Amino acid sequence: MARYHIETYGCTSNRGESREIERRLRDAGHHRVPLDAADVAILNTCTVVEKTERNMLRRAKELEAEVADLVVTGCMALAQGEEFADLDAQVLHWEDVPAAVTNGECPTTTPDAEPILDGVVGILPIARGCMSNCSYCITKHATGRIDSPSVEENVRKAEALVHAGATELRVTGQDTGVYGWDEGERKLPELLDRICDIDGEFRVRLGMANPGGVHGIREELADTFARNEKLYDFIHLPVQSGSDDVLADMRRQHRVEKFRECVAAFDDRLDHWTLSTDFIVGFPTETPADHERSMELLADVRPEKVNVTRFSKRPNTDAAEMKGLGGQTKKDRSKAMSELKMDVVSEAYDELVGTRREVLVVEEGHGDSVKCRDSAYRQIVVQNASDYGIEPGDFIEVDVTGGERVYAFGTPVAAPADSEEVAAAD
Ligand code: SF4
Repeated sequence: MARYHIETYGCTSNRGESREIERRLRDAGHHRVPLDAADVAILNTCTVVEKTERNMLRRAKELEAEVADLVVTGCMALAQGEEFADLDAQVLHWEDVPAAVTNGECPTTTPDAEPILDGVVGILPIARGCMSNCSYCITKHATGRIDSPSVEENVRKAEALVHAGATELRVTGQDTGVYGWDEGERKLPELLDRICDIDGEFRVRLGMANPGGVHGIREELADTFARNEKLYDFIHLPVQSGSDDVLADMRRQHRVEKFRECVAAFDDRLDHWTLSTDFIVGFPTETPADHERSMELLADVRPEKVNVTRFSKRPNTDAAEMKGLGGQTKKDRSKAMSELKMDVVSEAYDELVGTRREVLVVEEGHGDSVKCRDSAYRQIVVQNASDYGIEPGDFIEVDVTGGERVYAFGTPVAAPADSEEVAAAD
């Protein structure tokens, strides 16, 4: 759980991205605080004129001096990232900022774990806490052992969200894979089946599940995905490292082989699915050979979505007591892995080009565009949405026309609705 400070400069587009960053951080249980109380500062930059450029660089240096971790995003980060090379900062696309702030820790559900409806998206926290004790994690101190409300209670909350208009349910928790362990049972497959049995047209996305908790139910869980159309064929399994030595020092509850076996169980049952995973680079005990093993695992398993986090010490954690690697080493390793990651994940969108997909329109995009998700939770952007009279909550068919590394473009199969139809639909 991080305390973050965010500063946004520039246009409405930058402000929109900052709002989205904050929504994702809030959903993951992170808190916005004043600068002097922050663990992490996020600088969303603009570079419209040279004077702005100088101001951004000056502000970045000030923030670097004030906080433990600095994340720079926005237009200057993408267009002139090298300008920040001398700073101890992560320079990232805005989509990667939430993972960098999370520092490899699991999302923390809100204390009262009440569902949230955000547009057509319903956030359903199914439990609080976890069964692990990772050496780099500060969240554990705040949330403790897993506490799972009953399947009945969670199904009631899911029904309430669907009845309130949610067409995408996001099932979250710190480690959804250990849901029910406090009751001595592995209840995640049962809960997902029950949620998918709820009447209505909606999709369900399962949140982060650690390989250690999924391994024992991997076949049963993969079967649950295979038989439920409502369940996006998407699973977020944070592996964190390709080295068993580093995983041991992180006190993770899995080793690389268990992770691979979880992936294999889904590969055996699902044709078109998305594996999302996380790597922490620069963990204090990570040797160059360990880093190489992580790169090899990424290149071999080829996940469709990857969060690369540069290790940073969190107060009162065992990993904070370890002798850290230098900033340059961490920077070089995260740069190398981020470059490999972009090659790997862009395949996930190139393979969609030329296909026709049924998608759910989930949220507004930039300008007159909407963001949609296919059955494997791949992101497809539809432009000129108002021409087709489509909006969040609609299920439509699209022809995928182009891949853009971390999303694709699609054109609705149904011809644009004429103005009367659009007006009549309103
Ligand atoms: S699984 Fe590990 S990283 Fe996640 S909340 Fe538990 S102790 Fe923290």
